[in-house]
Amino acid sequence: MSAPVILIVEDEVSLARFVELELQHEGYAVKKCHDGREGLNLALNENFDLILLDIMLPSLNGLEVLRRLRKEKQTPVILLTARDAVMDKVTGLDTGADDYITKPFAIEELLARLRAALRKQPAAQTPQEMLTVGPVRLDALRHAVTVNGENVNLTSREFQLLQYMMENADIVLSRETLLSTVWGYDYMGETNVVDVYIRYLRQKIDEAHGVKTLHTIRGVGYVMKAGESHV
Ligand code: CA
Repeated sequence: MSAPVILIVEDEVSLARFVELELQHEGYAVKKCHDGREGLNLALNENFDLILLDIMLPSLNGLEVLRRLRKEKQTPVILLTARDAVMDKVTGLDTGADDYITKPFAIEELLARLRAALRKQPAAQTPQEMLTVGPVRLDALRHAVTVNGENVNLTSREFQLLQYMMENADIVLSRETLLSTVWGYDYMGETNVVDVYIRYLRQKIDEAHGVKTLHTIRGVGYVMKAGESHV
């Protein structure tokens, strides 16, 4: 299989160069440009596996590039947004972006999101049916969860959250990521809903069974890890 080809559309030349080098180091083939209109032309006329698209761009902004691209192609797009540009994120996702990442970002997070967006591509991969993280087992087909072999009753939202965290075990997941994945990009309610549901899961999974699998990473988010029993 040949390396995935990524297009970077970013007018900050040093940032674009940095990301290009990192991606090449990870084995991706990379093309980059620094202008919205040029980016749109490349995106329309060549085939990329994924596009990293800055929003604030000269000549044509990223959202407009995305809007025009989506009329013709469904190439996965990850938007690069400025901190606090909430409306850009919402508009971007409504316009058909697959994900977004807020600048400044850690390159590891970008790589993780890129891998996730690329994974979604090949014809509807079958989700993993059985997931195990330490004492916790999740059977996606039977919609059943056990901890140390004991059944746990979860609501469907709790189940979805747990499933996503188990699929991404050992990866720290931000509230934003959990919210957009489990509740959907169009969710407009309270953002602390994630914390509330983590608390429910903690009660039902960890506290009820004397294990510790759901960890808070202060200021970052949550991670599910196989934890030792502490009873
Ligand atoms: Ca920019």
